Amino acid sequence: MKKATKVMALAAAMVMLACTLTACGSGKGGKLTFGTNAEFPPFEFVASEGVIDQYDGIDMAIAKNIAEQNGMTAAIENMEFDSLLVALQNGQIDAVIAGMTATDERRETVDFSTTYYTATQVMIVKEDSDITTAADMADKKICVIQGYTGEICVQDMGYPYEAFKKGTEAVLELVNGKCDVVVIDSATAQKYVSDNEGLKIVEDASAFESEEYAIAVQKGNTELLEKINKSIEAMLADGTINELAVKYTEAVSEE
Ligand code: GLN
Repeated sequence: MKKATKVMALAAAMVMLACTLTACGSGKGGKLTFGTNAEFPPFEFVASEGVIDQYDGIDMAIAKNIAEQNGMTAAIENMEFDSLLVALQNGQIDAVIAGMTATDERRETVDFSTTYYTATQVMIVKEDSDITTAADMADKKICVIQGYTGEICVQDMGYPYEAFKKGTEAVLELVNGKCDVVVIDSATAQKYVSDNEGLKIVEDASAFESEEYAIAVQKGNTELLEKINKSIEAMLADGTINELAVKYTEAVSEE
């Protein structure tokens, strides 16, 4: 080998070593930082002892597995749902896992992984409510959560609504009789209904399309996306995600 080639080869080897040590391009210092909004049980919530620090839920267990399968440690940054994609674009976090629906609008700014869970919007109402379809919401007081796909659905239907920062706040409005219906994702709705007396879920499959939850990465970060996709595919194939969904759905409804 010529000297220049040798130097180049050595430099390349050093870069490769540095990358192995720090997991270059997909995390910093072997850490894979996921952004979430831990207000979305059973996917993410704060617990006394979670799977990643105080964070627990289906998504948190998935995040932990993805990091570990790729030789990294998962870290969580908890923030408002509305801030997640901006934080991802700024590089403050490596990925977003937040029960986030892969929508065309979001695809304009970030790339999404393989789908790991399919959900739909549902309506939470009081047990004695006369709402049986989405169209029945027309003359009712509707509550949604800011930035969630539920807000977008209600907007598209053209109905007025009030938006809250947290699911629990919207549900409290409903419990207190200050609103008639909360539009939110199915599994999370289930959790709120089992936590609060006198509520029920109304579904309308013709009004609400199914939604695919996926992990978001920065646009063009194919290296990380491929790692995430491989892990998700493995967890779907061996039943891990299914088991997590069952475990956390039962756990939250038993509370
Ligand atoms: N699936 C909904 C969305 O993507 C809600 C997600 C969430 O609140 N974490 O907007």
